[in-house]
Amino acid sequence: MAQSSIEWTEMTWNPTTGCSKISAGCKFCYAEIMSKRLQAMGIEKYKDGFEITEHPDQLNIPYKWKTSKIVFVNSMSDLFHSKISLSFIKKAFAVMNDNSQHVFQILTKRAERLYEIHKELNWTENIWMGVSVENEKTNKSKS
Ligand code: SF4
Repeated sequence: MAQSSIEWTEMTWNPTTGCSKISAGCKFCYAEIMSKRLQAMGIEKYKDGFEITEHPDQLNIPYKWKTSKIVFVNSMSDLFHSKISLSFIKKAFAVMNDNSQHVFQILTKRAERLYEIHKELNWTENIWMGVSVENEKTNKSKS
């Protein structure tokens, strides 16, 4: 978790890190550059670099914020990546469901996985979901 310089959010929360490129829009991926930089700096959370990694120890962070926040979930990953287990995604959603005082913003490029599992998740009103749309060819990817 960290204060964010992104203008449409206040905080970032990364219960998972890492991703893989699926579209032209990933070409200059900030998360990949930062993950490799943090790995090179010896930061424990990024010891796997840009490989998908679930971080159970990060799930309790939203419970600790004293005031309500607008939170960008997974600035360093994509919560709907195929390598992130459904059970872990459910745990992240349970945290968001428990913390209605915060607004959680999720962005994914993986609309198919989102569609596949959305009925298994609890969509409380404090969860804002966005899908990056580039073009038809791009959005047929399944990775
Ligand atoms: S989906 Fe997002 S985080 Fe993943 S590689 Fe593409 S730009 Fe980076």
